[in-house]
Amino acid sequence: MKTLTKEQKEYLLSKIRNVPDFPKPGIMFKDITTLLKDSEAFSFLIDHLFEYYKDKDLDFVAGIESRGFIFGAALADRLKKGFVPIRKKGKLPYTTISEKYALEYGFDEVEIHIDAFECEKENPNVLLIDDLIATGGTAKASINLINKSGANCKDACFIVDLTFLNGTKELDKNTEIYSVLEI
Ligand code: AMP
Repeated sequence: MKTLTKEQKEYLLSKIRNVPDFPKPGIMFKDITTLLKDSEAFSFLIDHLFEYYKDKDLDFVAGIESRGFIFGAALADRLKKGFVPIRKKGKLPYTTISEKYALEYGFDEVEIHIDAFECEKENPNVLLIDDLIATGGTAKASINLINKSGANCKDACFIVDLTFLNGTKELDKNTEIYSVLEI
C-alpha cells in the first residue's frame, strides 16, 4: 500500500486547474479535466490507485456522480471489480434507495439501485470514490447509502481533500479514508 512522494503529489496537483469564482463567487473550483486529458498524469494516478487498493478485500467500486464515475470506472476495471454509480435523485431507472443531505441552502439526495451490491457475498466490501471532498456531506450520505443497502463501505478515496473544510472528519469511522492530494 504505497503512498505518493511529495514530488509525485506536486506533479499531480500541477495538472489540476484552479478556476476562481466557479460556480459562484468565493469558490476555488478544482478542475480535474486538465488532469484527465493528460494521458501520462491520468495513467499515473490510476496506476497508483490500483497499487494502493489491489491487495484489499474489495468487491465493488462505487463512484459519486459525476466525476467519481471517471476515476471509479477506470479503477474498477483495473481491479476487476464491478462498478456502481451513485447518482443524484431521479436519474436511475429501476427501484432505488436514497439518502438526503444538507446543502448550504436546502437539501440534495443521492440514490442507488436497490440491488446495486447484490452478489454471492452476504455483506460485500465497497470502495467509494469521488474526485474531491469539501464539507463531506455528499460522501457521508453516500457511505450511509452503501451501508444501508446491505453492503459495507470499507474504504473511501478522494483525489483531492480540501482539508480546511474538515470533510473527512464527518465520515463514518468504520470507513478507511485515503485522500491522494491534500490542500
Ligand atoms: P461536499 O459534499 O461539500 O464534500 O462536496 C463534494 C462534491 O462537490 C464533490 O462531488 C465535488 O466534485 C464537488 N466540489 C465541491 N467543492 C468543489 C471544488 N472546490 N472544486 C471542485 N469540486 C468541488
